[in-house]
Amino acid sequence: MPLLNSRSLPLQARNGFTGIYVHYPYCYQKCDYCDFYSEGIGKNPSTNESLLFDAYKKEFLYRKKNSASLENTKIDTIFMGGGTPSKASPKHWKELIHFFRNELEVTEDVEISFEANPEDLSVEFLAELAEAGVNRLNVGVQTRNEEGLCFLGRYVDPEKYENLQQIFSSSKIERLGIDLMYGMPNLSRSDFESDLDYFIKMDLRHMSLYSLTLEKGTTYSRKVKDHILKAPDEEIQREILEFLPEKMAKHGYVWYEVSNYCRENEYSRHNLRYWMYEPYLGLGPGAHGFLDHMRYGNPRNSEVYLRHPTNARREPAEAKSEIALSLFRLFLPFEPKTFFDKHLDRSASMEMLAQIQGIHEKGYCHWDGNIFQWKTSALFSLDDLILELIDTD
Ligand code: SF4
Repeated sequence: MPLLNSRSLPLQARNGFTGIYVHYPYCYQKCDYCDFYSEGIGKNPSTNESLLFDAYKKEFLYRKKNSASLENTKIDTIFMGGGTPSKASPKHWKELIHFFRNELEVTEDVEISFEANPEDLSVEFLAELAEAGVNRLNVGVQTRNEEGLCFLGRYVDPEKYENLQQIFSSSKIERLGIDLMYGMPNLSRSDFESDLDYFIKMDLRHMSLYSLTLEKGTTYSRKVKDHILKAPDEEIQREILEFLPEKMAKHGYVWYEVSNYCRENEYSRHNLRYWMYEPYLGLGPGAHGFLDHMRYGNPRNSEVYLRHPTNARREPAEAKSEIALSLFRLFLPFEPKTFFDKHLDRSASMEMLAQIQGIHEKGYCHWDGNIFQWKTSALFSLDDLILELIDTD
């Protein structure tokens, strides 16, 4: 059963499906703004590659044995992220996907997503991924502007950026998407629009359009504090955020989450899983998972993970606040009560429904007592509105 198609809207809570996320922790170099767990190791392949893929399997078997969420479930999304998974050999990924298929029941229409950097892409590489079973590819472009890339501290091979169109057009993987970033203080709004128009012309299925943010503990954040680099340009970010929904709609893209657009029915089904508060098995150093109503986080250190792939930090999930912070980021219509009935007790559910009614009275959403959908006008008040849903006292 597909997770979502236009006939299944509005979204409702589901049972019986789980996803798998695999975190590959290595990159060419650590980008200044990045707060994901990843290590820059240069151009060479990781010497730990085989050990890492063995550790993924060990962790998988341990979680399978110890998790009630993985009994009687079907896997309908697998997502290989990072880090830079395209730095690893497609043979390893193929073998791992095969391993998952042998160990758990996988749906016929499983979505298998793969994140890649432009530097690793070639027609042959994509053909190998397609053969491994990957049916959705997302490329972390961020910008085609060299000054912007330089500002972000990214490793760049300009020739690969130039070849993207040709590689995409010969890809056997049809569900193609990119990440673009805006708000670098050395780029203008029209620099971003020129990137966006370039990729709109390629008719990609999915676009994640993010603003640059200052994340605690990153090199970028330290450089801003030390007055070495400028902070993100918030004025341009606001302008862009404001014009995007209309512009993307004009080009046939559905706005389904604050920063995510897609062609009709081409949602990232795996990411929808996070927003819909569904379970998933996270594997790898720095990965998070959500099984048996518990959140767990693996060590953010690949050496430690390789020695102890099952040693995660665990804590109970906070259903009410997590649902508010995830489900209510979606701009698609959904039925909140189906999620509340599944995860909350009666009084918490009633409180949240009363809060929704209050938000409706202020004019920020469509709400008929059953189906909820944000209006575009909620965009710049979203954080405060979500807090209202959590603070029901
Ligand atoms: S390539 Fe991606 S994961 Fe790696 S450091 Fe840069 S932003 Fe982070």
